[in-house]
Amino acid sequence: MNVRLRIPPSPTGLLHIGTVRTALYNYLFAKKNGGTLVLRIEDTDKERGTKEYEDDIVNGLIKLGIAGDEGVHVGGPYAPYRQSERTEIYTGYLQQLLDEDKAYYCFCTKERLEAMREEQTAKKLPPRYDGCCTGLDVAESKKRVEQGESAVIRLRVPQDREIKFNDLVRGENVFRSKEFDDFVIARKINDPLYHLTVVADDHDMEITHVIRGEDHISNTPKQILIYRAFGWQIPEFGHLPLILNEDKTKLSKRKNKVSVDDYLKEGYLPEALLNFLALLGWNTTDEQEIFSMEELIEKFSLDRVHKGGAVFDIKKLDWINGEYIKKAIAEDIDGFYPKIAHFFSSRPQAEGSTPIDPVLIKKILQDPDFAGRFKKLSEIPEALAVFFEPLPDYSMSLILNEKFKITPEIGKRVFQKAIETAQNLEWEVGDNTQTQTLSESMMELVEPLELKNGQVLWPIRVSLSGAERSANFATLMVYLGKEETLKRLGIALEKMN
Ligand code: GLU
Repeated sequence: MNVRLRIPPSPTGLLHIGTVRTALYNYLFAKKNGGTLVLRIEDTDKERGTKEYEDDIVNGLIKLGIAGDEGVHVGGPYAPYRQSERTEIYTGYLQQLLDEDKAYYCFCTKERLEAMREEQTAKKLPPRYDGCCTGLDVAESKKRVEQGESAVIRLRVPQDREIKFNDLVRGENVFRSKEFDDFVIARKINDPLYHLTVVADDHDMEITHVIRGEDHISNTPKQILIYRAFGWQIPEFGHLPLILNEDKTKLSKRKNKVSVDDYLKEGYLPEALLNFLALLGWNTTDEQEIFSMEELIEKFSLDRVHKGGAVFDIKKLDWINGEYIKKAIAEDIDGFYPKIAHFFSSRPQAEGSTPIDPVLIKKILQDPDFAGRFKKLSEIPEALAVFFEPLPDYSMSLILNEKFKITPEIGKRVFQKAIETAQNLEWEVGDNTQTQTLSESMMELVEPLELKNGQVLWPIRVSLSGAERSANFATLMVYLGKEETLKRLGIALEKMN
C-alpha cells in the first residue's frame, strides 16, 4: 500500500506545540513506512484564520524539518493544498450529495433552532436537530434556494447503523448512528464546513492514515458517515493522547507556553524540542531518552503510543535541551556557534563592555567548568557576561560572608596577598592550561594567612565576578586575564578600607 498521511492545521493561531507533536508522529509514521506526508491548510474558518498564522505554522514546520513532502510549501500532484482554493471541489461534492438525496437543504431559522435547543435542555435531552426539513420536496427546496432564501445543508444520517473503527492507538471504537443528528455540512452550497472539507480532501489526496489528537475522536464517526454517504474508502484512524499541564488539565496558554516560536526564541534547539515531543505520549521499550531523528524513525510505532494524557514536563525538556547543547559544544563548537551568537547580539550591550570575542566564547563554553551547565541558549550570554561586561557594583557585604566569618580585616589581607601573587604570575587571556597553576597559587595563601579555604577563596571569587554565584575563581582568572583580574582584586581591596 502507498502510505499517505497529512498535517492539516487551521491557521487560527501561532504554531502550537500540540500541532508539532501531531505533525511529528505523522512524519515519523510516514518515514518509517516509506510513505508521503502532505501539508494542507484548512482555512475554511474565514473569521478566525489569517495568512500570518498560516505563515507562522508553515515556516515553523519547515524550520523543524517535518513539513512533509507535498503540500502548500512545495506543491505536488494533488494541488491546491489550501482549502480556500478548493471551494469548487466541495461545491461539486455537496451538489452530488444533494442530488443523491444523501443531504438536504434546511431552512430552519436561528431563532427556531435556539428555541428547540432550549426546550431540549430544559427536558434534559441531548441537543439535536428535530428533522423539521428532512421531508421537504427536493425540487421545491432547490427553487427556494435559487430565489435567494438562505438554507444550510445537512447530511441525512441513516438511523441506527453501527459505526465501528479500529483506532490504531486506542483499539476498537463503536458508535451508533442514532447518537448523531442530521448535522450541518455546509452553511451554503459554496460555504462548506470542516467535516465535509476534511473528508473530501482526505479522499481526493488519497490519505490512508488519519493520525490526529484525541480531541477529534468524536468527529471520526461523523466523518465516517460522510465517507459512507459517498461510498468512499475509509482511511485508518489513530487518535493521540492529549497534552496536559502538570495539574492534568488540557495544555493551555495560561499554564505553559504553547507557541513553538516562544520555545525557539528562548534557545531550545529544534532537535531537542522534537526529541522531547516524540516522548510526549510515546516511548520505546527501554530507558532511552535521547534519540536522533533516524533513531526515532526506526523505533517509532503507533502501538507504543500511550492512551492516557501526556503531561508536559518542562524540566524534562530542559534536561533534554541541556544534553543537546552539551553535545553540540563538545562535538562541533564552530558549527554551533552561530546559533549562540544570535543570543549575544540580542543582549543589550552594557556601557563599558568589551567586544564579544567568538574565539574566547568558544573556549569558555568548552571549559569543563561551563560545559553541561546550560539548559537553554538564552542562559549563555548572561552566564558569560562576567567576562565581557563591567564588574557589577556589588556590595561589600557580599564579600563579608557570615558563614565563613570574613571580616574587612581578613578581606584586606586576602586581597593584598592575592594581588601580590597574581602580579608574579603570567598568563594569557583564555589560556586554560594555566587554570591548575592559578588555582594552586591562590590555595597556597591559605596556610600562611592562617585562614580557612572558604575565607580565602570566597572573597577572591566574589571580587572577580561581583556575584554570589559564578564559575570557579581560577576559571574566572583565566578568562578575565591578568590585567582584569588585578583590576578587580584592586577594587575589592579598596572596598575593604
Ligand atoms: N484542521 C483541523 C485542526 O486544526 C485538523 C483536523 C484533522 O486532523 O482532521 O484541528
